[in-house]
Amino acid sequence: MSRRLLEKQIARIKEKYPEEEFFDRLFEKVASSYVDFERVQKLKDRSIRLMSQELHDLYRAQEEKQQAFISTILGKIVDGIITCNKAGKIISVNSSAEHIIGKNESEVRDLELSTILADFETYDEFLSHYYLNLAKNENQIEVSISGKSEAQIPCEVSVSQFEMDEVSTIVILRDITERKKVEAIIIEEKEKAEKASRAKAEFLSTMSHEIRTPMNSIIGMTNILIQDDFDEETMNLLNTLKFSSEHLLVLINDILDFNKIEAGKIEFEHIDFNLKELVENINESHKYRANEKGVQIELEIDPMVPNWVVGDPGRLSQILTNLVGNAVKFTTEGSVITRLTPQQKEGSTIDILFEVIDTGIGIAEGKQKLIFESFSQSETYTTRQYGGTGLGLAITKKLIELQNGHLEVTSTPRIGSNFHFSLQFTLSNTPDDALAKPVAGAYATQDELVGLKILLVEDNPINQFVAGKFLSKWKCNVTIAENGHEAWEKVQADEFDIILMDLQMPGKNGFEATREIRNSDKVYKDIPIIALTATALLEEKNRALKAGMNDFVTKPFNPKELYEKILKNMTHST
Ligand code: ADP
Repeated sequence: MSRRLLEKQIARIKEKYPEEEFFDRLFEKVASSYVDFERVQKLKDRSIRLMSQELHDLYRAQEEKQQAFISTILGKIVDGIITCNKAGKIISVNSSAEHIIGKNESEVRDLELSTILADFETYDEFLSHYYLNLAKNENQIEVSISGKSEAQIPCEVSVSQFEMDEVSTIVILRDITERKKVEAIIIEEKEKAEKASRAKAEFLSTMSHEIRTPMNSIIGMTNILIQDDFDEETMNLLNTLKFSSEHLLVLINDILDFNKIEAGKIEFEHIDFNLKELVENINESHKYRANEKGVQIELEIDPMVPNWVVGDPGRLSQILTNLVGNAVKFTTEGSVITRLTPQQKEGSTIDILFEVIDTGIGIAEGKQKLIFESFSQSETYTTRQYGGTGLGLAITKKLIELQNGHLEVTSTPRIGSNFHFSLQFTLSNTPDDALAKPVAGAYATQDELVGLKILLVEDNPINQFVAGKFLSKWKCNVTIAENGHEAWEKVQADEFDIILMDLQMPGKNGFEATREIRNSDKVYKDIPIIALTATALLEEKNRALKAGMNDFVTKPFNPKELYEKILKNMTHST
């Protein structure tokens, strides 16, 4: 009830009972109560007002503190942060972003994000590109920011999207200019290093090639001299000359091979070959040296090892030659045994364990790993005492590994060493008792080539002389052509039984001349052509065969090999 209504009612009652004082007192009581009440009410109102003002101030202070905190953080963050609305319009940028863009917030606010992205026409195009990369698990993409100046700034960008007030996208930019600079330097350095390494490889390859040419002559001449009957002392000198020059050639080939392995350019052949004959030949070629030192050289081939297998005979020879050569080199008494044991035969393949066992100086346990590294020898005095480059085992190990084998050694100093590895071969269809070559043994008589008309295409006079000397010895009728062009003319003018064709010649080379002959429609179209080349590279061999040549002999040629290849190709063609 309101104060006025109550006072009215009391007044009315008072009128009815004027003598009654009680109503006057009541009236006063009510009036004073109201006064008290209003005072309290006022006080309450005031304190509520005060409290709410305080609360409001407190809230404002808190909010300002928070705002300041967020903007300090945003200002301190090195990454640029841009917020955008749903339409891709820029709402805010932090100071790092201002720095990257080269404009302040007021200049870019309300602009579409794509206006600062060099590679995107629209905000949507940018977002779809980003999400496409996100699907590939790349949550950062590289973009170029069009800064104030002409130059674009490379940045790494990540995006997060959510709904809060008007903000829908936060774009984080990281300036990667410095990183790009460092990357460019690294790439440049890498290219420089690769260039230098290529130059080194080319230099080594050219040098070894160049050295091979005079080596060719030395070995060729020695081979000629050895054919004659000299007294024992001269023969010994000639044999040493032959051994040393062949050894030098092995070293040159090692450098070439090492180069090729380093460049990952090595290929393996898969051809039928007589394994037994191959190991016999290797032992045979080390016999002279071993016997000279009084060391026995032996072969132990398990009867279950097939004679014929499919693989790379050239590389296997190289591996075994190195191991047997080392064994002979580091053994002064006792024996060197090459042992072949079949391991497992599965389907059309067979694994064969090769062991080269010697009773030589041995290798201390601590040095056994080291010797497989390039240019490493077990002792520093080794080079002085035994010679060598320390390349042989590194190459051998790599050649075995590239054929999925593993070269290991067990050795005891002063007792000897056992170098062993196992290789897988495909079984051959050639019957076990087939002869290694259709002409094996023919070299003994050397009379099957008599009267053969041979065109020798060779530009180097020493090579002409060496080849000519042997061919005349075998009573062949030799015509010489200095280059491919002359060969082509002579083939048309005369009839030949076979052509021995050098590959690298000035003017028309051996490949071109062969192609010309093969592409003609005359009788000489199918004449057997044997490539004579200074490199043993498989690519070169394949190139020669592809050009239409029938066979391949590496210079400096082994007279027996040349003889047998000529005979084999004559036999095949008739
Ligand atoms: P090189 O024989 O040209 O020095 P290798 O790589 O073939 O290079 O051999 C590396 C080193 O391994 C040799 O110098 C020698 O110290 C050691 N070595 C290799 N084979 C034998 C062996 N059969 N007996 C003892 N030491 C060996």
